[in-house]
Formats: sequence, structure tokens, C-alpha cells
Amino acid sequence: MTENQKNKIFELRRQGLGYGEISSQLSISKNTVKLFCKRNNLGENVLFCKGCGEAFEKNTIGRPAHFCSVKCYKKWWVNTHQRTVYEKECPVCYQLFRAVSKKSQIYCSTGCYHLSRRAGMKHE
Ligand SMILES: [Zn+2]
Ligand SMILES: [Zn+2]
Repeated sequence: MTENQKNKIFELRRQGLGYGEISSQLSISKNTVKLFCKRNNLGENVLFCKGCGEAFEKNTIGRPAHFCSVKCYKKWWVNTHQRTVYEKECPVCYQLFRAVSKKSQIYCSTGCYHLSRRAGMKHE
């Protein structure tokens, strides 16, 4: 096997491919792939965490699928489900606040919103 093929095996195993798929993709015999994986702790009972990328044993009880630990799962969940938050400055009280949407939220609070409306009316 070339270094390139070895690296490829690591890569494909990390993507969750089985020995058969790897062997046909790299045209190496399945047994060679199997042996290489076993020797490098990449056996078929080894999975890679979607959160941190670390290898872990497949059938551990009490662990979420695709993650090495509950901690990693939670971290991943928060990262993928977190909505983009915009730091904005309220034009009424000049306080920084976090808006969930870029357009719809202009004022830090409804209080400031009403203040701005009233201020605007005075100038008319
Ligand atoms: Zn992890
Ligand atoms: Zn404000």
C-alpha cells in the first residue's frame, strides 16, 4: 500500500465507510483494508464522533449515536441549532443588545420602540 492509500483509508473510515466500500474505492483487497484498520484502531466497531472527530467504540451504552459522549452531542446540537445573533445598538438608549433577526428588531425593547415613535411624532 502507498502512503496515499493509507491516508485514504483513514479518511474514508472517518466518513463512516465499511471495509468493502473502501476496498472497492481504492482497489485494495478487503482483507488488506481490514488488517490495516485493525492495526490502526480503525476497526468496524470504531466510529468517529461528529462533534470532536475522535474515534470511539460503537456499542457503548448510554451514548448518543454518532457522538463519543453526551457532551459532544450537546455541543454539536447547540452549534447547529443556534440561530445567528446580531449585535445591535438601540437607537433610543444606545445600549447594545442581541437581535435574532437582522431586519425586524431595531430597538432593544418595546419600551424604546414606543419612545422612538413618540419622539418622532413630536418632531412632526
Ligand atoms: Zn466527541
Ligand atoms: Zn433601547
